[in-house]
Amino acid sequence: MTYTKKNIIDLKPYTSARDIHKKGIFLDANESATQWLNIKLDNIDLNRYPESDSLSVREDIANYLLPNFVAKNVFFGSGSDEIIDLLIRAFVETNENIMMMDPSYSVYEVQANINNVGVKKILLNQDFSLNIQDIKNNIKNTKLIFLCNPNNPTGNLVNKDQLLEILEIKSALIIVDEAYIEYAGYNNSYVDLIKDYDNLVVIRTFSKAWGLAGIRAGYAVARENIIVELLKIKDSYNVSTLTQEIIRQALKQTSKLQIEVDRLLQLKNELENSLIEMEIPIIQTQANFVLAKFTKPKDVYEYLVQNGVIVRDRSNLPHLSGIIRISIGTKQQNDLLINLLKNYLKNNEC
Ligand code: PMP
Repeated sequence: MTYTKKNIIDLKPYTSARDIHKKGIFLDANESATQWLNIKLDNIDLNRYPESDSLSVREDIANYLLPNFVAKNVFFGSGSDEIIDLLIRAFVETNENIMMMDPSYSVYEVQANINNVGVKKILLNQDFSLNIQDIKNNIKNTKLIFLCNPNNPTGNLVNKDQLLEILEIKSALIIVDEAYIEYAGYNNSYVDLIKDYDNLVVIRTFSKAWGLAGIRAGYAVARENIIVELLKIKDSYNVSTLTQEIIRQALKQTSKLQIEVDRLLQLKNELENSLIEMEIPIIQTQANFVLAKFTKPKDVYEYLVQNGVIVRDRSNLPHLSGIIRISIGTKQQNDLLINLLKNYLKNNEC
């Protein structure tokens, strides 16, 4: 006898390389390689529940990061993954579906499956741009369209004219996931389009450039009527006191963010140059990872794992044959990776 719901029996859960390899140098999940913020945790009342609506943090996010918005336009959650789930739960009926691009961030599909709603996947064009015609042709019953700017794993920005065309589809909410936007620059963000479009939601995270993946913190920006619905359905105390406190401290250090992003981009540049010198083809990205192309990606992946370096094999995804995604690590970690690849190349073709 099984008591499990059918969609949960059928569910392919989100898996990361980290679930398989517990130890090693992790260049697989696009986190920040360093914890650069200065955080002090003294005298915090942990006996009390946290602020249930995270209002102080939402005010700080609006003040420090979103000059054209106020707290009522911001939802704060335990990572953007929580927000993806809440968006599906609040807005997608059981007979409706979400739409996502392929390849893109797989959690959209997993959350839709958990919530027992349909998923339509739209293949990106070969140049990673959106296939607008295909999106329009499949729009029936679609309630949420997930776009990712820059996209994980292809690394490119969403084209503005294409986004504007999609925003004209008024029957669906358009979610633009900006998890990696700090690396591309806030000037490439679409958050200010919320002023003109009531069907746009932008989601962001503190897990990448801010270096805070461990505390689980993300936010959504949208018109107030959308934020109200997310507040209605969230867990009563969805974000811990510790996370709220750390984000308040982090936002006071916003001026250091650009320095850290620049440092990371410099390391990325060096890593890319080393790969190019070794005649390993790369695809340019606007995020904190490099896409490197190998003839035998699975062999390269296994070799790196055996030597304690965990990367993400993306070579099974459409348009990404041969591609391994490498998150930028510290200088030492990147050097180790390059030395391993040099060694590998001595004995094998890449
Ligand atoms: N969106 C994208 C595109 C991501 O790559 C990730 C993390 N890998 C997330 C969202 C999830 O971020 P969080 O840690 O805030 O849940």
